Amino acid sequence: MNGNHAQALKEAGMKATPKRLAILEMLEGETAYASPEELWKRMRDRFDRLGLPTVYRNLEELAESGVLSKVIHPNRQLYYYFCSNREHHHHFVCLSCRKVQDIPSCGIEALEREVSKTVGGKVLSHILQLNGLCSGCMENGGMP
Ligand SMILES: [Zn+2]
Ligand SMILES: [Zn+2]
Ligand SMILES: [Zn+2]
Repeated sequence: MNGNHAQALKEAGMKATPKRLAILEMLEGETAYASPEELWKRMRDRFDRLGLPTVYRNLEELAESGVLSKVIHPNRQLYYYFCSNREHHHHFVCLSCRKVQDIPSCGIEALEREVSKTVGGKVLSHILQLNGLCSGCMENGGMP
């Protein structure tokens, strides 16, 4: 799958460095979001003297260029998720088991039009993430 990742980085205007490829490889196929610390622990075997700040920086660069999704958790920790869906969409994230699910419909356009009218300006973009408990966690009575 390395070719695909190199391609995804190229399309985002980023160089396919070994660290970026390793991050995408680890997150590929994961249905849950991961913390920088967790990814760092898994990468240390492959990269000598790899510092946590380097992992943070790489994750941030990947998120800024849209290759990774950043998850903003109520616990104020940052997590990252790799979604192969390149269409405009949003995520439902489980606060308990960390599972991420795509929300196919956006539904914000009407609100954007209304807000643009109200403020007399123009809404250019939006960030939307829905937090909750997934069906599996609901069945287990799981709480975040
Ligand atoms: Zn869950
Ligand atoms: Zn997605
Ligand atoms: Zn949207």
